[in-house]
Amino acid sequence: MSLVGRFKMSGLGKLRVAVIGAGAAGLCAARNLLARQDIFAPPVIFEITKNIGGTWVYEERVGHYDNGLPIHSSMYRDLRTNIPKEVMSFPDFPFAKHLPSFVHHTEVRKYLEQYCDHFNLWDHIQFGTTVDAVKPVKEQSGWKGLAWDVTTSDGIERSKSIKERFDAVMVCNGHFYDPYIPTIPGLEKFKGMLMHSHDYRNAEPFAGKSVVVLGAGLSGLDIAMELSDVNAKVILSHGQRPLTCPLPTGVEQAPPVVKVLEDGTLEFQDGKQATPDVFLFCTGYNFTFPFLDENVGVKVKDHLVFPLYKFLIPPAYPSLFIVGICRAICPFPHFHVQSKFVISVLDGSFTLPSREEMEKDIELDTAARRARGIATRHILKLDSEQWAYNDHLAQLGGFQPLPRYWSNLYESNKVFRARDMLNYKTHNYTVLDETDWMVQNLQGQQLPKPQLKQI
Ligand code: FAD
Repeated sequence: MSLVGRFKMSGLGKLRVAVIGAGAAGLCAARNLLARQDIFAPPVIFEITKNIGGTWVYEERVGHYDNGLPIHSSMYRDLRTNIPKEVMSFPDFPFAKHLPSFVHHTEVRKYLEQYCDHFNLWDHIQFGTTVDAVKPVKEQSGWKGLAWDVTTSDGIERSKSIKERFDAVMVCNGHFYDPYIPTIPGLEKFKGMLMHSHDYRNAEPFAGKSVVVLGAGLSGLDIAMELSDVNAKVILSHGQRPLTCPLPTGVEQAPPVVKVLEDGTLEFQDGKQATPDVFLFCTGYNFTFPFLDENVGVKVKDHLVFPLYKFLIPPAYPSLFIVGICRAICPFPHFHVQSKFVISVLDGSFTLPSREEMEKDIELDTAARRARGIATRHILKLDSEQWAYNDHLAQLGGFQPLPRYWSNLYESNKVFRARDMLNYKTHNYTVLDETDWMVQNLQGQQLPKPQLKQI
């Protein structure tokens, strides 16, 4: 649609919001903006690739697309979700009934396409469009005297550069595509194959090989299991407390790799050594916002994006929203809650505190986390605190919180996973009502619910 056409559509006085990225977060943002056409013009969603779904668009190739842009998705061929569909979904759009609780990634992509169909999102997405710059501008008629110039290009030659003005911007560019590789002295001396899980697609190339997997997060564990299935000999090297659940055949644990010796041997923290064929980093990803104007002052340091009020809003520029940066969360409902909160800010149902108050709030929140021994790099990991966070935003924004069964079911799945990482995905959950649910094993037997610590 032309600029003029879009301007006409927007309707005078309605807020124009740009959404960066058509992954789950961007789609959720758009769905919630479209539901409020009394306040908002139809959003414009900019998406570099030709598809919706971001992470859920499996790409067999590694490296770059034909157009030279880096491959975005870190999805691997046989991945099944680690969160049951009953709580992985957006709260206003369940997964299809016939699916098991833990679905193959292709089903999640289908689900997101159905979400676009159902909420009529397709026409609002500009595919093949890279957001290159997001710059704040003073504008009297803008939201709180502020507007945003968003510069985009066609993503290939970056030739067709277009600048458009918006009242607000929701940044939903994802954070699982720029591999983080920790500094390990002597790493360049390693003689085997060095790779990051971003480039892992399937286990066959590793059949019979020796592999040191660094990191025992969800990807590290999942990939170690896949490697075990092809008889790879795996050392799962990590700095967490040793796992106590049964490990896959051929997988043993070790403390972190601390250095690589002159001859390429890996040395672990306990002094033991290994010379694997493959050294596979499952060490997570960097946050990156290459398009954000420096003056906005959003910084990334040690895996923390700051300063952000409620992990979302830079106090000095409160019409910019960085959605979905929290970690160890249940992503889709989290995006839903954050999007609803953004709308409550923009439509005035929640009045943001002053800049100084927001800065103070961030300072106090960060200090409280530090006082509980949380290192900077873990501040964005909400884990079980996500439920209080979600409820808090719903209360501030005056919208419906998540149904009460959500947190309990999600946390119980985490317990089942910690007890038995080999089999927890064979469970099937049923939601009984607003507060209750049940779970059955593969044989259809009902399982006792785990005792949870107070959330
Ligand atoms: P993304 O899905 O990464 O989407 C971001 C989009 O922004 C992309 O389409 C990208 O092309 C676009 N974009 C980026 N920069 C620009 C730009 N400058 N201009 C225009 N467009 C841009 N979550 C679960 O709930 N359950 C699971 O089982 C699960 N398993 C996972 C397994 C793996 C291997 C990984 C990596 C993640 C997994 N997740 C899982 C988390 C998952 O990433 C989130 O569920 C969710 O898909 C993230 O959505 P997003 O929109 O924030 O980011």
